[in-house]
Amino acid sequence: MNTQEPQSMVSRCDATTCRFNEDMNCTAGQIEVSLSGQTAQCLTFTPTEGMSDSYGMTAENN
Ligand code: SF4
Repeated sequence: MNTQEPQSMVSRCDATTCRFNEDMNCTAGQIEVSLSGQTAQCLTFTPTEGMSDSYGMTAENN
C-alpha cells in the first residue's frame, strides 16, 4: 500500500463521484473510514450534487 502520512488519512481516493474528491484527492478535512478486509469504505462519502438525486441529504455544517 501507499505510505501514509500521519496527518492525512487519505493520500488517494478512487471515489470520483464524491463531492470531496478533487482529482483523486480527498479535500474533506476529516473523514471516517471503515475497513473491512482489504476494502476501505469511506463513511464520509457524499455524492457530488447533480450526480445522483436519490440522496436528499447534504453534508453542510451550519
Ligand atoms: S470523503 Fe471519502 S470518498 Fe470522498 S474523497 Fe474523501 S476519502 Fe474519498
